Amino acid sequence: MRSLKWLGIAAFGAVSVVACSSNQADDASSEPLARKSAALVGASDEGESVLHAPASSSSTPSMTVDWSGLEGGVSTLGTDASLELVVENHEDEVLSATLVLEISGLGAKRSVDLGQLTLSPREVQRVSWSPGSSPIAPIGSLARVVPRISYTRADVAVRLPGRQLYLAFAADGHQLFVSESNGNGVRLASMGQSTSRAVAGGGDVATLLTSLGNRRGQVDGRRVDSTPSLLKMAAPAGASAGESNADEFIGDSVSYPESEAPTSSVVANGIGGGPVIVIPPICMNKQTIPVCSRWRTNGFTDLGGGIGVVPVDYDLSSAPAAYANATFYSDNDVMWQGTLDANGCTPSVTFCSNRTLRVDVSASSLQKPAVTINNTVLFPASRQVNISPSRTFSATVTLAQTIPSGSYIANAQLWASNQPDDYVVRTAAVLGRILSMPDNGFPTSSAPALAVHTENGCMLDATRCDPRLSYGSTVYDKLCGEACGRANDVWYGPSLSAVGGLHPTGHHTTESAYSIAHEIGHSVQFSAGADPANRKEYDEDRGTGLCGCEHVTDGNRLHCLQSSHEQANANIEGFAQFYSTRAMNDQGGDAQFSYYKTFRRMTYGANGSLTQTMLAPPVAISVGAPFTTPYTTGWVRNYCNEAGHSSEYDWLTFLWGVNGKPTSSRPTMSELLSILSSARSNFGWSAFADATTAQYPPNSVKISTIMNAATLHGVNL
Ligand SMILES: [Zn+2]
Repeated sequence: MRSLKWLGIAAFGAVSVVACSSNQADDASSEPLARKSAALVGASDEGESVLHAPASSSSTPSMTVDWSGLEGGVSTLGTDASLELVVENHEDEVLSATLVLEISGLGAKRSVDLGQLTLSPREVQRVSWSPGSSPIAPIGSLARVVPRISYTRADVAVRLPGRQLYLAFAADGHQLFVSESNGNGVRLASMGQSTSRAVAGGGDVATLLTSLGNRRGQVDGRRVDSTPSLLKMAAPAGASAGESNADEFIGDSVSYPESEAPTSSVVANGIGGGPVIVIPPICMNKQTIPVCSRWRTNGFTDLGGGIGVVPVDYDLSSAPAAYANATFYSDNDVMWQGTLDANGCTPSVTFCSNRTLRVDVSASSLQKPAVTINNTVLFPASRQVNISPSRTFSATVTLAQTIPSGSYIANAQLWASNQPDDYVVRTAAVLGRILSMPDNGFPTSSAPALAVHTENGCMLDATRCDPRLSYGSTVYDKLCGEACGRANDVWYGPSLSAVGGLHPTGHHTTESAYSIAHEIGHSVQFSAGADPANRKEYDEDRGTGLCGCEHVTDGNRLHCLQSSHEQANANIEGFAQFYSTRAMNDQGGDAQFSYYKTFRRMTYGANGSLTQTMLAPPVAISVGAPFTTPYTTGWVRNYCNEAGHSSEYDWLTFLWGVNGKPTSSRPTMSELLSILSSARSNFGWSAFADATTAQYPPNSVKISTIMNAATLHGVNL
């Protein structure tokens, strides 16, 4: 990681904010919720079924950590008050964990060690922490506090985040404000404004933006005040003065609904003060460089690595805002407006470093542009991807100097300031990665826009929850559950807590990066007309024993990685698991797949004895080889060999084996989709084999690549 010298650009000067226009009607969120609920009645009479919306839900990890008693709005506390963290052991065995708080804000990042915990089977422990002791104590901007537990169970190391906490202090230092869900409310409270609304309105957004560039408060007990026009940022503990690494380079940002963007000018300095008339200072430190924006995700539970597997290539905690629409401002002036590139960057823009520099990035529409040379289209644009709800992220642009070259880089960090916006950030990070991925099978702009719904789970259409995956409690009766994908829509909703029950866990399906990419994989296969047409309902196509899902402790048991199904069902889920693996790994010999439900690990002793260990998610699995026992390869062939059957697991390793591995004989994603499309009407191994033979010229090495891999991975039953 490069070393960076710290140079902060303070907010000083007037900024006018131009409302971003958005014509993307969001049919799901604009529909009155009451209508959604009412429309559920009779939904099952329509003859629709879950068949067309394969569902994913996640199981509970072995240990979890979360804040206690902070549901809902903004809490006002004295500086000596304590908060409670609840650490829970969900296993029937003793587990140990380390608990830390990762705190970022005011351009700094700190860790607070809360010690080692040992929990009895199923024990719940409470750990208190005083937010008044936070090493980062902002006034008018936010500190983000993420609890993180690390534990090892069955030789698998897991590092899991809990929900982030937003924290800010009153200007007089006698009070502080916290919320799990509403960072904008915390920021407004810190500025002495009302926090009665859960989401900032237009006037509130203008107020929030006035504090965006400020760095006011305390870091490590030292006073920070960013009124100077150019300053050196505080160095983190242990670093030599003025130096740090890129992880510490954290600017501030505000997220809000696109419709709430303020139309009047706002002033970017002063907290709670009136407009300040500023004569623009002399241009200092003039730069002509790109401005690069990154999605800052906090909540992925499945990218923390593991023991004995290759690490993922994309951890996405800081992901380029690829192909998002953005506007770059210097004081009142729009310096650049357009679509960011694959790295989340503008082209080179000339600006003065001592002006108020801000970028507004919209997550509502992502699209990879066409590549043209001399007005000839070499590669068409991708289909448009519309993420709902429509959100804009305004961030300060900060400047750092690389060491030793001395060249400058300009960055903006796009953090959500409330929980629903975190779902948007996580989804945009994964979609940006997929759109940047070569040979991604993604439809071109001739396809209708893909609607990505982060505010609700599986829907039959724009207004109705899938009745089999909806919640009936008083709190959640208007929310659909789980995650689903179809050709032109994907949905991400709350997870389930118990098999067969309809109880949301409070966790969201976007907490797994693999779940997000999995549903996009369904959309890719459906859009290509490559989904097997002869699929049955899971109820009518369900494995048992080692090839069933009874070991899944919560989440739905419709299907799981190791369940046996007819080839049609096994293929469609296996393709989605494979697609998510492609999204998180570069093509190469091996890859990591992180699974979000309970996984059966099988271990053979020297005497042939078999030990089963149930691993709670996230389960990191190397997929560079088929599932293998001392006897044969392939999960279904090992444990429930049956003609015409396979598993998600077997299709996952097979598809990686033919498309993930580096070889001149690698079938492309589009070739695989073409083969699946030809084989779809009566899908099975023989149809797939016939379509493979028809896809290529006789004697093509790609035919033998596919046939040999099918035999090895056991999808040819
Ligand atoms: Zn699926």
